Amino acid sequence: MEDKLGITWSEYKDWRKQLKYGKHHSKICYMCHVPQISDDLHPTFAKAKKGGRGATGCEYADVVAPLTFAIYHHQELKKKAEQYFEARWPTSMEFAYWLMDVPKKTRHSNMIDILLWYTEIATL
Ligand SMILES: [Zn+2]
Repeated sequence: MEDKLGITWSEYKDWRKQLKYGKHHSKICYMCHVPQISDDLHPTFAKAKKGGRGATGCEYADVVAPLTFAIYHHQELKKKAEQYFEARWPTSMEFAYWLMDVPKKTRHSNMIDILLWYTEIATL
């Protein structure tokens, strides 16, 4: 089934495979892409396992990443994001590489930064 942006869930799932954190990232949940900087924001893996869902215990997998994939497929939002982050994403693959790239100093990941950027502009 396609949504308004013309994306299918299986396209997203194929794209998702590129989302792999490198050594330049620390403490990020690879399921939901939320940094584990405090237990309130995201429980540590050990704690999440007890009450959480599935083997990884992450309750909010596939929330942040699909949103960024949707931003990529939304022409206007993509353009705005490219301007804001001074980046160019000619393909979804290059967008995925950018998401997994070295984050800016004091930041945790580009993935979370684009989410936060979106929550800022979405309320305007
Ligand atoms: Zn998680």
